[in-house]
Amino acid sequence: MSNLERDPQELVSVQDRHPDGAAPAVEVLAPREVPLGGPRALLVRRTLPQRRRSLIGAWCFVDSYGPTPAPRHGTMDTPPHPHAGLQTVSWLYEGQIEHRDSTGAHQLIDPGAVNLMTAGRGIQHSEVSTTAAATLHGVQLWTALPDAARDARPFFEHHVADVVAVGDATLRVFVGSWLGVTSPVTAYTPLVAAELALPAGATVELPADAAFEYGLVVDHVPARLQGVDVPAHHLGVVAAGAEGLRVETPEGPLRVLLIGGAPLDEPIVMWWNFVGRSHDEIVAARDEWQRDVIADADRAGRFGHVDGYDGDPLPAPELPNVRLRPREQ
Ligand code: MN
Repeated sequence: MSNLERDPQELVSVQDRHPDGAAPAVEVLAPREVPLGGPRALLVRRTLPQRRRSLIGAWCFVDSYGPTPAPRHGTMDTPPHPHAGLQTVSWLYEGQIEHRDSTGAHQLIDPGAVNLMTAGRGIQHSEVSTTAAATLHGVQLWTALPDAARDARPFFEHHVADVVAVGDATLRVFVGSWLGVTSPVTAYTPLVAAELALPAGATVELPADAAFEYGLVVDHVPARLQGVDVPAHHLGVVAAGAEGLRVETPEGPLRVLLIGGAPLDEPIVMWWNFVGRSHDEIVAARDEWQRDVIADADRAGRFGHVDGYDGDPLPAPELPNVRLRPREQ
C-alpha cells in the first residue's frame, strides 16, 4: 500500500496531555477517508498516524479498507512505489492480493496469512487484488524501524498465522507472541499483532504486557475495550501499564485486529512512504526514487526494480514547503 494522498502532510505529534492530569482508559481515534489513487480509487480508512497520536509501540500506520466488491482484477491496484525505514504488514479478512517487490518476491496473500516486507534502506513493491474472491476487505499496517535496523537489506516474509482459542474467542497471531503462539516473522522492537474473532455477546480477557501500548483496530462492528465503546472503523488505544485487555462485542459477531508494542522512544520523520530521522533523509529518499526509478528506470539504484507489474511506477508527490520536523511520542 502506498500513501497516495495528493499532498501528504508531515504530522508533528505531541504526547497526549489531559487538563485534569488523568489519562483516559482508552483513547478513541476516528478514521479519515483517503483515496488510494487511480481513476477508480479505493477509499481506505486511516486511523494512524494522526495529529493526536503517531505511534502505538512502533506501529506507525493503520489503513483499513472494504468490504468492497472486487469484480475485476485490480479493484486495488497500487503501482510500484518505494518504502524505506519501515515494514509493511498486510492482513486480509476477505479477498486476495498479489504482491511483487524489488527483492524478487512474488506472493499471493489470502485471509489468515501475513505478508511482511522489511524495507530497510529501500525497496519498492506493487499490490494488486485478484478475482479469486468476490470481496476485498483488509488492513495494512506499518512499523517504524528502530535506528539500529534502518539500514537493513530489504527482505520479504509470508506466514500462515497459527490459531489459538480463548474461551469463545479465536486469536490469529501474525506478529510477535501471544498466549503461547509465536509468529516467526521478523520484528525489530517488541511487537504483537493478532486478529481476534468473537461470537455475538461474548467477552474475552486477554493477558497484556504492561510494557506495551495497545491498539484495537475496529472494523464495521463496534466493540467495547476496557469497558469503553469503540465505534465502527475507529481505533481504540490503551496506554502502557495495562495488565489485561477486555474486549466485548455488544452488537454482533466481532472481527478486529489487536496491535501492541513497546514504545519506540525515537523521534521519527514520516512523509509519504518513508520513515526517517531528518528532513534531509526524506528529501534524499524522494530524490533517489525520482532520479533512479521515475526518470531513469535504473535497476541498480537503492530501490531496485519490480518485475511483472503491468504499468508505470508512482511518482513521488511534491515535498511540503516547510522543513519536516521529527515527531516524538
Ligand atoms: Mn506500499
